[in-house]
Amino acid sequence: MRFSGWQVLRQGFAGNTGWKPQWRNPEPKPEYDIVIIGGGGHGLSTAYYLAKNHSAGRIAVLEKGWLGGGNVGRNTTIVRSTYARPGNGEFYTHSLRLWRDLAQELNFNVMFSPRGVISLFHSDGQRDAFVRMGNAMRNRGDNAELLDRAELKKRVPYLDYENGRFPIHGGLLQPDAGTARHDAVAWGYARAADQLGVDLIQNCEVTGIDIVNGRVSGVQTRRGAIRARKVGIVVAGRSSQVAAMAGMRLPIESHILQAFVTEGLKPVIDHVISFGMGHFYISQSDKGGLVFGGDLDYYASYAQRGNLPRAEHVMEAGMTLMPMIGRARVLRSWGGIMDMTPDGSPIIDKTSVDGLYLNAGWCYGGFKAVPGSGYGFAHLMARGEPHPTIARFRLDRFRTGVGLMDEEGTGAQHNLH
Ligand SMILES: Cc1cc2nc3c(=O)[nH]c(=O)nc-3n(C[C@H](O)[C@H](O)[C@H](O)COP(=O)(O)OP(=O)(O)OC[C@H]3O[C@@H](n4cnc5c(N)ncnc54)[C@H](O)[C@@H]3O)c2cc1C
Repeated sequence: MRFSGWQVLRQGFAGNTGWKPQWRNPEPKPEYDIVIIGGGGHGLSTAYYLAKNHSAGRIAVLEKGWLGGGNVGRNTTIVRSTYARPGNGEFYTHSLRLWRDLAQELNFNVMFSPRGVISLFHSDGQRDAFVRMGNAMRNRGDNAELLDRAELKKRVPYLDYENGRFPIHGGLLQPDAGTARHDAVAWGYARAADQLGVDLIQNCEVTGIDIVNGRVSGVQTRRGAIRARKVGIVVAGRSSQVAAMAGMRLPIESHILQAFVTEGLKPVIDHVISFGMGHFYISQSDKGGLVFGGDLDYYASYAQRGNLPRAEHVMEAGMTLMPMIGRARVLRSWGGIMDMTPDGSPIIDKTSVDGLYLNAGWCYGGFKAVPGSGYGFAHLMARGEPHPTIARFRLDRFRTGVGLMDEEGTGAQHNLH
């Protein structure tokens, strides 16, 4: 069933009794050509592009819980391509281009809202860094505008510009970046992949990876063994655990990232605002809640909830930036597991096991990457060669030191990016 205005009208007249389930609920088959472990944004988009762009045969996505129950449904939904360095730059630019037509591509309203992302700067040095970033973005064909303080004040009057410690000097605006509805992205890719024949198998945790003579031969799951010619590990915050099933130790530390939402308010924040002096960012959801977050909880953990000192830190940063939010009441907070790489950039690569591929290390920025990552990873899995947009995301950069990426000039140190 395709979604359209006509279909909405028709179903409305029929009392909404004609809607069909959005995807099948198949039993796992004993064998597939390709098995994707993980039904988050990246796993589902990989399966979709494998089927759509590469006609890659019989494909299954194995998800231990329910589709979209991981980080894809826990993030603060910011989509942007404000990256300067080679490797990241072309990748995120490509991903943003895919976002623009994603609703049409999937025939599912992912509610992509290019409302503009503003990164604030608070010193001359920071402004210079943002100028360089803006120029790099424009060279790639992205839009970027430097806003001085007067222009910023016109557009975003409610910030505390006079804060003695962190005065706001201006901002870098990416006008066509913004937010999207996170669940809808998972559902849209799931539905479109299912329509192309991909088996989406929920409640199917992978417990082992079978390797024979250095080649992957399938996986063990809670619903039995499944043979496969190729296997992709796409499990976001569980990458180290699943890779360990193949005897691999990844250059990854897992930390919690928290987020918060207030009660619904009338429209007040038009853009996504990112505070340059602390890790704090905020936008307003279509339902009216102020959605915001900050830095990682700095200890390694697999708990999907955060600690109170970090919550306090985030609130303090918010109050410093826009004191008015002290009037809003926080409705909910939650946490997700972030797989942090030493240089803050992801890994999309083959592994030392033939037929076993890895897509991991998205840190706290992998939602915006969902279309580009699936596109590039599907290309790699189908053809054995990386798509040009993912060519720098190699696993061996952490061993050789060649090609490390770092967006903030802080070096390859876990707690500084
Ligand atoms: C609070 C917070 C805010 C964030 N904000 C942003 C943001 O504004 N912008 C942005 O770009 N990014 C953001 N992110 C990061 C982004 O959400 C993640 O990088 C991205 O969603 C990770 O990829 P995924 O969607 O595939 O992950 P997930 O949805 O976590 O998918 C992985 C799936 O693998 C499954 N799995 C794990 N182990 C197994 C197993 N053994 N067998 C089978 N299945 C398994 C899990 O159940 C899960 O469903 C944020 C994250 C958090 C937590």
